[in-house]
Amino acid sequence: MGKRIIVAGAGHGGLSAAAGLSKRGFDVTVIEQKKECELGYDWTDIFDPKSFSNTGIPYPAEELFEYKENMTFFNPSLTVPVRQNIPKDELEIKMERSDIYKHLIAHARNCGVKFMFETPITAPIVYGSRVCGVRTGDSDIFADLVIDACGIDSVIRTSLPDVFGIEKAPAFGERAHAYRAFYERVGDFCPEHNYEVYLMQGGEKKVAWVATEEGFTDVLIVRFDEFGSDEVEKTLSQLRKSNPHIGEKILRGGQFVHIPIRQPLAVLVADGYAAIGDSAFMTVPLIGSGIANSLKASAMLINTILDDHECAFTAASLWKYQNSYYKYLGEGFAVLSTIKSGLFNLLPAEIDYLFETGFVNESLINISANFTGLKSLNLTPKDIASKAKALCTDRILLTKLIRIASQVASAKAITAMMPTSYSQPAVARWSEKYTSFFSKL
Ligand SMILES: Cc1cc2nc3c(=O)[nH]c(=O)nc-3n(C[C@H](O)[C@H](O)[C@H](O)COP(=O)(O)OP(=O)(O)OC[C@H]3O[C@@H](n4cnc5c(N)ncnc54)[C@H](O)[C@@H]3O)c2cc1C
Repeated sequence: MGKRIIVAGAGHGGLSAAAGLSKRGFDVTVIEQKKECELGYDWTDIFDPKSFSNTGIPYPAEELFEYKENMTFFNPSLTVPVRQNIPKDELEIKMERSDIYKHLIAHARNCGVKFMFETPITAPIVYGSRVCGVRTGDSDIFADLVIDACGIDSVIRTSLPDVFGIEKAPAFGERAHAYRAFYERVGDFCPEHNYEVYLMQGGEKKVAWVATEEGFTDVLIVRFDEFGSDEVEKTLSQLRKSNPHIGEKILRGGQFVHIPIRQPLAVLVADGYAAIGDSAFMTVPLIGSGIANSLKASAMLINTILDDHECAFTAASLWKYQNSYYKYLGEGFAVLSTIKSGLFNLLPAEIDYLFETGFVNESLINISANFTGLKSLNLTPKDIASKAKALCTDRILLTKLIRIASQVASAKAITAMMPTSYSQPAVARWSEKYTSFFSKL
């Protein structure tokens, strides 16, 4: 019988890894706290469809998705809308979250994965420096490898002993507090742009989007600090000034949720353990998209495990997964995380200035789930600094932009210093440097 693998939580990357590994002879069980029919959220998601083919998952049926429209970004004073222009072959798709789950689970079942639903995991089982399984209420379930796909607040990651050197919780500014609901669409108002994103909406440190669909308006509100229904009502009444078609009645959603918006977890692996998806903070930091990244990461994890011929599942044998993730995606997200921190330190008037002078333009705003790094925007830290010098006459803003450029260069340099082969002291030293750099942004 194949080695035993537990996928903790039915996260997207976990389901995809489960399918790929089961297909290749591993004995894989997904343990999920919710009922199968209650997985995910009651809304649609946008992601790169190529992430399915990259991981050997069949494409979903055409009637289950549509291509996403370009988004239009607004500055705080709403004076300059800037519309994305994503190339056709990079367009993302929009699909119901429940359909994404059905698709991934059907594929995993076809590949032989076993499921335990309605089974909350309470803690990892750890012997010495190795994760050996998970504790679920009244039983201990042992495994040769635990893949942690339990999301941003994973009980596994947060319960690992400190000696593992794996960060537990995102810091302030690294976790987005979000509210999303589909409201009834009222009246016959048709906005000029169907997908609007408001940066520093209402002059506050928050982002809101209004997507106009047939029969409903999709509203998302994101802040760094926790908020409640008063803030939702206040934001809605501001948004209704330019979007009078947002009705009062909630048709779907209406939940407060969390999204990681930060650099990836410094250390993704330990003996008997690998983190994936939101548990490893794999979202695109500025926009919070994580589905495609976690699917792409699952292909890297599968390849790493297949290369581990002894099935040792040690931090050393799993390190190739960490290297691949950072090489193809993580470095870009670390860079974007520094840009996010820099932008949120700007004042609304400074963001206005950047839009009005053309610093923020179509190519800068073409950040999608395909974002891998500044190279995808044809930008280098030097470009940022020289563009800022050319456009910016405000000395304080110029200083802030040059600081962002130098932080981008540092983020690239620090991620590039990640050890290519595993040695515990070297990894601990690098992780300390990486974590400390981002904690000071
Ligand atoms: C409002 C909002 C909008 C978003 N929009 C998009 C989008 O358009 N496109 C996109 O790509 N991404 C989007 N995301 C991000 C996306 O949801 C995640 O990045 C993606 O789902 C990857 O997360 P995950 O699957 O690893 O974790 P999760 O989605 O958090 O799944 C974790 C799973 O683990 C289970 N679990 C947790 N704890 C336990 C436990 N103790 N025992 C057993 N099971 C447990 C949970 O029940 C859950 O099923 C959005 C997120 C939010 C909140």
